[in-house]
Amino acid sequence: MKICTILVLLSALFYYPTIKANQNKAIGQGQIPVITHKPNEEKVYPIGIIGAGAAGIMALKRAILNNDEVLIFTGAKQERRGSRGNWVKKVDNIPGLAKYERTVVDLRNEVLEELSKGSFRHNLYIIDNSITSIKKENEIFKLSDGMGQSYFVKYLILATGIMDEQPKIQGSIREILPFANGQTVAYCTLCDGHRSFGKKTVLIGHSESAAKMALALVEKYKIASMTILTNGQKPQFNQEVVKRINDHHIMVLEAPIQEVMGNKEAKQLTGFKLQNGKVVEAEMGYVALGIRPNNQLALQLGATVENQGLVVTDSNGETNIPNLFVVGDLRANSMKQIYTAWQHAVESVQVINRRIRE
Ligand SMILES: Cc1cc2nc3c(=O)[nH]c(=O)nc-3n(C[C@H](O)[C@H](O)[C@H](O)COP(=O)(O)OP(=O)(O)OC[C@H]3O[C@@H](n4cnc5c(N)ncnc54)[C@H](O)[C@@H]3O)c2cc1C
Repeated sequence: MKICTILVLLSALFYYPTIKANQNKAIGQGQIPVITHKPNEEKVYPIGIIGAGAAGIMALKRAILNNDEVLIFTGAKQERRGSRGNWVKKVDNIPGLAKYERTVVDLRNEVLEELSKGSFRHNLYIIDNSITSIKKENEIFKLSDGMGQSYFVKYLILATGIMDEQPKIQGSIREILPFANGQTVAYCTLCDGHRSFGKKTVLIGHSESAAKMALALVEKYKIASMTILTNGQKPQFNQEVVKRINDHHIMVLEAPIQEVMGNKEAKQLTGFKLQNGKVVEAEMGYVALGIRPNNQLALQLGATVENQGLVVTDSNGETNIPNLFVVGDLRANSMKQIYTAWQHAVESVQVINRRIRE
């Protein structure tokens, strides 16, 4: 083979990944359906949004409709999987949303497609990746992804959300996931509490707030039976809670869970088998083991967090770091709901828009 042919082949090998990376596009379930212009790495963009779940997408929509330029980072696979929005299926508690199968992801894709075709599409820059490190220098935020690329923004909106702790069953969190996907195991009583109506129900948790969640479900939904499984942990309930648990005939079982029973394909739960051989029948399950906030970027910037790790902000969502805003589940002292995320997003973007135009 001639030397020039070898050189052409080699350069094609190195050039091909570059073309792919520059398109800002990834294909497949849960990934981004549109391509936008490639951002200029030298330029300072007015608004950066990290996260494209419920809060990030609403922030994007409002900012684009305000005719402001926006760079949005949608998150790589690992970050998407580690965010609540990725796991939301049908939503019953917000008008108009019950038609979506995977509500937060479907809404994201719908909004991105709509904005990428609309009159303000010149303002939209989508980066289908995660931000891994962040700095603030001379009033400008420098955002770096895991691929060695950096971007600059003046106002930054963090919408990276939180994730629920999952129960470990025989050392793995995988056992519970098919049923969570089928909404026969849930995490949020305000979203999915009504699914327990009249059913044999189990709640996995050992903290006092877990016990209070079980009590609230029993008191509201004529539950057929309620059992709390502490999965090998000691219950941490105070005496008043213990009395209420006894009054409602709620069983508390401490043995570790050995198996989640049911039809994994149909995602139908039928019960839990414990390591002591006992079987607890259940048509509906709830997990109440606490949360993991995706607060690493906020901490890198020195933002103040409360005891659960959620970021403290003022009523506009601005943190102790000027021009750093937090919207959605990651914000302290707020309901972890889609409509709350939307409200946060609009409030913060409107403050930013006023500052940009001052
Ligand atoms: C199973 C389940 C069911 C629910 N059902 C309902 C319901 O019926 N009604 C309701 O109102 N609420 C419901 N919720 C709550 C709702 O999902 C959240 O309140 C909402 O998604 C919060 O939006 P968010 O934008 O803050 O976070 P998310 O929607 O979780 O989005 C976080 C985003 O941040 C991105 N990200 C994270 N880290 C990075 C990074 N470093 N770089 C770039 N991107 C990053 C992720 O990719 C993701 O796009 C449910 C939650 C769960 C778990």
